[in-house]
Amino acid sequence: MADFDSGIQYLKGVGPKRAELFEKLGIKTVRDLIYHLPRSYMDFTSPTAIASAVLNEVNIIEAEVVKKEPPALIRRGMTIYRLLATDGSDDLTVTVFNSKYLFDSMRVGEKYIFCGRVTGNLTRREMSSPTVMKSTVADRIQPIYPLTAGLTQNLLRGCVKSALSGITNARVELLPEDILHKCGLMPEAEALLKIHFPKEREDVFPARRRLAFDELLTLRLGMMRLRERARSSTAYALKKPDLEGFTSALPFKLTGAQNRAIAECMADMERSVPMNRLILGDVGSGKTAVAAACCYIAAKNGAQSVLMAPTEILALQHYDSLRAFLEPSGLKVGLLIGSLTKKKKAEVSEAASRGEYDVVVGTHALFQEGAGYNRLGLVITDEQHRFGVAQRSALAKKGNNPHRLVMSATPIPRTLALMIYGELDISVLDELPAGRRKIETYAVTGKLRSRACAFVRKELDAGGQAYVVCPAVEEGASDIKNVSDYAKELEKGEFAGYRIGVLHGQLPAAKKEEVMRRFKDGELDILVCTTVVEVGVDVPNASVMMVENADRFGLSQLHQLRGRVGRGARSSYCILITDSASEEGRKRLKILSSTNDGFAISEADLELRGPGDFFGSAQHGLPPLKIADLAADSELIKLAQDAAELLIKRLGSPECEALSKRVENMLGGYSVFGG
Ligand code: ADP
Ligand code: MG
Repeated sequence: MADFDSGIQYLKGVGPKRAELFEKLGIKTVRDLIYHLPRSYMDFTSPTAIASAVLNEVNIIEAEVVKKEPPALIRRGMTIYRLLATDGSDDLTVTVFNSKYLFDSMRVGEKYIFCGRVTGNLTRREMSSPTVMKSTVADRIQPIYPLTAGLTQNLLRGCVKSALSGITNARVELLPEDILHKCGLMPEAEALLKIHFPKEREDVFPARRRLAFDELLTLRLGMMRLRERARSSTAYALKKPDLEGFTSALPFKLTGAQNRAIAECMADMERSVPMNRLILGDVGSGKTAVAAACCYIAAKNGAQSVLMAPTEILALQHYDSLRAFLEPSGLKVGLLIGSLTKKKKAEVSEAASRGEYDVVVGTHALFQEGAGYNRLGLVITDEQHRFGVAQRSALAKKGNNPHRLVMSATPIPRTLALMIYGELDISVLDELPAGRRKIETYAVTGKLRSRACAFVRKELDAGGQAYVVCPAVEEGASDIKNVSDYAKELEKGEFAGYRIGVLHGQLPAAKKEEVMRRFKDGELDILVCTTVVEVGVDVPNASVMMVENADRFGLSQLHQLRGRVGRGARSSYCILITDSASEEGRKRLKILSSTNDGFAISEADLELRGPGDFFGSAQHGLPPLKIADLAADSELIKLAQDAAELLIKRLGSPECEALSKRVENMLGGYSVFGG
């Protein structure tokens, strides 16, 4: 019986050499091996008759060897072995190359299972280099594991088999009986056996469900632990100031949701443990004003705030907004971005560390070498998912346990937010400022492009401005040529005579700023841009947006994009152009025409594309989920979250020892998060 905690080299058949290969797969212990799950299966339970094999496809055939031909040496080092097999429906010629051992092991008169591509024609069926098994073997469903060079499926199967032999639930079960029962879960040992060696296809689903549940539960409990830990450190307790000075200087009245969020932040910051809060809100729900209120509260308590944005455009935008919101009440706001001159950066940093600024807005330059602060009490990050966890915690370290506020980029479903931002408390801005008009959204095919352009021209002639979002390019490809060529084309064609500006990520910051300013001041009619406008520009006079190749974007991203229009008094429009022939793709875009609710859109997006669309594949510091799928397992996520609520208090008890250990292990590999 294998000891699960011992090193993989001690498992029968492994040894130190192979252990190195296993380590490449992330397998260090026997336990790691039994949680190294198959990525798929080969199912030999229902072989196809040779006569009905699908040509040029992989088929599984069960047949008796009737004749072995003598080996043929076709050239140096290449020997062909041929045999003839039959299953009564037809004959099959099987060819193997260079595999004397396999050939010799097959006997005339015995039955085998052959799996491989069937070629030939109606009268002659062939299969080359098949996977071959004795047809007597019990495991008709074979696991296929993720591999690395030097390891084979057979070896891995053998190792897993020997590791699992003698497995009992007492040795591996993570969950107390009552939770298993309540959530309708299979015992751990059974789940492991069934996921590796299912007897029938139907075994896999409940086994996978059980193991995915464990993974989600561990993640959620880990997040809850982090939250507790963050709460045990001390912070600067702030006194509630009179907010009148702030609100009276605003050019608008705060929404109910904004007021609620500010009150929740205030309650957090009054305590002597750091605030750790996420503002989850739809595009245009006014997260910046909430952030500004928090900066105001900090400043009235003599504490400094920083606001970090993922791009310079966005930082500039926040800088402008915060100045507009806060300077009337006497606060000083500074800007620190990478493209400032070295001298200027040093000046800002020095002023910041002397405490001359109440708020410093910037990009990652905010926490680079040399940046210093004075009584840093509040760290705000916008569009958090674009930052690595390490970056965020580096900034947090600049202060002495500052309060933390995170503004989400995308409204995401609450269950998902709990998983991903689980160490944060959440305030939801579910109300848009009054008077926002619905952005009329149309999805059209390229055939209607010139009509769409005519529509845009009409808006321009009526005094409006337009965004034209350039065709998306492959990731990693340079968008410079793409966007400027495209702009030239428009300049000569559909939009001849209009003033066109170009904005893309690779422009120097000063240039970007200039283009933005000109667009904002009405010196440009059209801004041709890449998705850099997604997060930045706020131009109330812009009333129409046209997006090329809209099907290449995620729905949430498109929703973000169109949030750039509809910010002023004009009726606003968004035209999505797609040449995608797929029904599916067009259906997806229709969702945008039918609703303006960002939460509903992200839910649909999640179902259609998975969470990668919001967070990128790395998911920014989240431990990678191996089994569970944040998009597909929403029912299970909810179940795990509810179970976590019940279990968090029981983690110290003997019945939860294994679970508790698992949670600690996860947190161990994840220490940057605590900051
Ligand atoms: P987001 O939540 O997308 O970051 P912003 O903070 O950029 O939204 O706000 C969007 C726009 O709405 C800004 O022009 C901002 O000044 C304005 N705004 C914010 N709050 C209100 C409000 N309560 N009433 C009217 N306009 C508001
Ligand atoms: Mg914003």
